[in-house]
Amino acid sequence: MLRDTWAEISVSRIRENMQTIRRSLHPSVKLMAVVKANGYGHGDLESAAAAESAGVDYLAVAYLEEALHLRASGIQLPILILTPIKPELVPMALEHEFTLTVTSAKWFAELRKSIPYAASGKLRIHVKMDTGLGRIGIRTRQEWEELVPWLRAEDVEVDGFYTHFATAGQADTDFLEQQVARFLEMKEWGRSSGLAISHYHCAGSAAALRFPQLAMDMVRIGAAMYGFYPEKLVRSVKLEPALSLHSRLIQVKKLAKGEYLGYDNSYQAEADEWIGTVPIGYADGWNQRMQGTDVLVEGRRAPIVGKICMDQLMIRLPRPCPEGTQVTLIGRQGAERITIAELAEPLGCAQQEISTSLSARVTRTYIEYEETRALTIADNVTFGLWQEHFSSGRDECSLCNL
Ligand SMILES: *Cc1c(COP(=O)(O)O)cnc(C)c1O
Repeated sequence: MLRDTWAEISVSRIRENMQTIRRSLHPSVKLMAVVKANGYGHGDLESAAAAESAGVDYLAVAYLEEALHLRASGIQLPILILTPIKPELVPMALEHEFTLTVTSAKWFAELRKSIPYAASGKLRIHVKMDTGLGRIGIRTRQEWEELVPWLRAEDVEVDGFYTHFATAGQADTDFLEQQVARFLEMKEWGRSSGLAISHYHCAGSAAALRFPQLAMDMVRIGAAMYGFYPEKLVRSVKLEPALSLHSRLIQVKKLAKGEYLGYDNSYQAEADEWIGTVPIGYADGWNQRMQGTDVLVEGRRAPIVGKICMDQLMIRLPRPCPEGTQVTLIGRQGAERITIAELAEPLGCAQQEISTSLSARVTRTYIEYEETRALTIADNVTFGLWQEHFSSGRDECSLCNL
């Protein structure tokens, strides 16, 4: 590492989070670990390996390139590609035994022009249904009926049938309930088609943690594996962030009252102040909206002052510190802690937007965490938790009575 800016990722935290999630679900539910976008910024290979060691059944990524990267490193687990790939690239997917998302009959018609029959292995398919997110997927019965004949082909295996929720992280469950109802209706289309469909699934992290009864055959866990989840809405499990971010002061100086710093004179010292310069900027993913948020130095909070530059930012120090002093942008120093959740809330962004924004210029280091697990769920809470969750009706909505 040539530069003093690094993200520290605990692979055991990722593994433990996944194990905690596993214990909160019925034992028959399969786990799919979503490691798209370089494992939400945590490293795709390392995240996949941690998930595999937690016993997950499936991996998922957004794009073909991401799946190829996992296979090239020797990962053998089934991999679902969540976004439809171009039909002409299907031979590549077949070669590596990827599972493909399909959203239309048109895609199949196009595919059959180049691959009338997949001689080497089956086309493993998950059909994506749009129940309200309005992103990708089949919306109408007619679109489904048009697709079904293509799914009956001998070289096709319908391994899954799924949808994705728009509001699973929101307190108000009205729209979620509508999506669930729609999906249950669509499930009947699947059942009545006579196709052998192996996995019905709808829940991502928030839905799986809040409503385990929505887990069906499989849950798709991305955010929660990294410790990102709507904590206020989830009382059954406690997950821990896996990533911290650090740097070191490269210059410390005194600014006299009234002096400026930063592009566009964006900060003026209110008194004589100690200012530290930190070698991380918006090209590393610490974007300009972070101006005014705190970092930790010597266990105390220090605000980012002035506009964040491309490669550096400045902080107001509580007192003069030596150059080389560690600065923590995400994580703990002594009793103080800055979480991604705390940063994301005022920005109005998803927690994973912050971790996925950390650019390739930020070195990732990997550690096994031996810190006490006092905050994570007790080991002896097993299947009973799930049963309790089911019967307690904690959340006053129809999802609890499924
Ligand atoms: C990204 C993604 C997930 C994972 O969602 P999390 O909320 O991060 O768990 C699940 N399903 C689909 C279709 C996705 O695109």
